[in-house]
Amino acid sequence: MTEPLLKVNNLVKNYAITGGLLAREVGRVHAVDGVSFEIKAGETLGLVGESGCGKSTTGRCILRLIEPTAGEVWFEGKNVTALGHDALTALRRDMQIIFQDPYASLNPRMTVGAIIAEALIIHGLAKSKADLDGRVVELLETVGLRAEHMSRYPHEFSGGQRQRIGIARALAVEPKLIVCDEPVSALDVSVQAQVINLLEDLQEKFSLTYLFIAHDLSVVEHISTRVAVMYLGRVVEIARARDLYTTPLHPYTEALLSAVPIPDPKVKRKRIMLQGDVPNPINPPSGCHFHTRCPIRELPRCSASAPPLRETADGHWVACHLRG
Ligand code: SF4
Repeated sequence: MTEPLLKVNNLVKNYAITGGLLAREVGRVHAVDGVSFEIKAGETLGLVGESGCGKSTTGRCILRLIEPTAGEVWFEGKNVTALGHDALTALRRDMQIIFQDPYASLNPRMTVGAIIAEALIIHGLAKSKADLDGRVVELLETVGLRAEHMSRYPHEFSGGQRQRIGIARALAVEPKLIVCDEPVSALDVSVQAQVINLLEDLQEKFSLTYLFIAHDLSVVEHISTRVAVMYLGRVVEIARARDLYTTPLHPYTEALLSAVPIPDPKVKRKRIMLQGDVPNPINPPSGCHFHTRCPIRELPRCSASAPPLRETADGHWVACHLRG
């Protein structure tokens, strides 16, 4: 069996909350609470959950844009979490990120050409100015933009075009893995489809591997090979995309899926409305974090102990005392 390209083992990220005159620690935000998964080369793993569930923090910890509190990230057999500054800078060539808000992530004072060229220069990937310019034009054309866009500034582009610039910047260093952090959430629905199609085409052309983060299941349905669902810092279900969409096991996945529109008007799906809001990650519920909102919970079992993520069928994992 081939080794996965990326392995995430028991990843934890806590943030201290300080208060009072002496800024003492008064609590902790449990943003990521023991997340584990693997991604094989050429796969897309969709990572889905409501706002604040820790999915973006997970993506950033993988790239060490923020430092994990505990756990390990392995990429091509290297322990990313243990790398020093120079080795990490070199590895960033292989692991890139596309952000949700393309405008905020592009320097407004730099031309698009300079933004894309920056990554090539940092990693020494151009031999001359002519080589650099040629590569920038090639990258712009690869993402559906044109050579004359080089000299323009980010504010002169639409949201969809700005996201294409972000994609070109990520592609510049010929990465193997791209963390797509809600790359279409800020875009109109019609533009979302174009950007997702572009990402699919680029994956095939450049043999890319994606971790595709989104807050609803409809966005990741077509692009994902497998999907992991997160709730309050934990992965509650992970399965091949078609299995997760046809036979979801976790009650939270069922609720998320019930909100996904079905194109065939003859097919009706009953909407499952969860009670209450996502609990505060400063003080998450005991046992199964989902027990305060779960329509099938069994107390005290569900509040007493956290269900482990276990495999119920080939490649289908769920964390629930009652399912699987
Ligand atoms: Fe619901 Fe209990 Fe399963 Fe958690 S463990 S999802 S509370 S049934």
